[in-house]
Amino acid sequence: MLQSFIKDIPNFPKEGIIFKDISPLWADANALKTAADALAAPYLSQEIDFVVGIESRGFILGAMMAERLNAGFIPIRKAGKLPSAVFRQTYSLEYGADVMEIHKDAFPKNAKILLHDDVLASGGTAKAALELLKQGNANVVGTAFLLELLFLDGRSVLDNNVHSVIQYA
Ligand code: AMP
Repeated sequence: MLQSFIKDIPNFPKEGIIFKDISPLWADANALKTAADALAAPYLSQEIDFVVGIESRGFILGAMMAERLNAGFIPIRKAGKLPSAVFRQTYSLEYGADVMEIHKDAFPKNAKILLHDDVLASGGTAKAALELLKQGNANVVGTAFLLELLFLDGRSVLDNNVHSVIQYA
């Protein structure tokens, strides 16, 4: 049961937030493989050119999904980390605000892209990532998350298909 590998950390990174720590899941060989399989499963019959993962917790399972889908992996990074020309997008988090960037030459127009992050909370981060991908005229085929916090209704702000492996009511 994958859910048993997710650790609730109350009041992190600030008061009132229950942080879902997925690092115990990464640390268990079977749970890690099962999670990557479950994330990739709905897309196995689709043609995906790239999985795009959001820094930094979208990198681990995102790369594993890419391998399963015979796709490449592209990182969305925080401001100032990427060396070449970038598209950039500002966004607000459940706790704070930030800027995300992707290399302009990372994918061609109309590339079939699957977006991945670890947690779908309010949906602000994923929505900003979709805006970022839109700047490069990507063809986003879906968004896939390990965890979805249903009570924050993040999927209502995402136009694309949302797939989540574990849901919290
Ligand atoms: P949001 O933009 O509200 O959908 O937040 C999603 C982003 O914030 C993801 O990148 C998550 O890693 C992180 N995040 C938000 N809420 C939590 C939470 N309760 N536990 C762990 N990560 C979270």
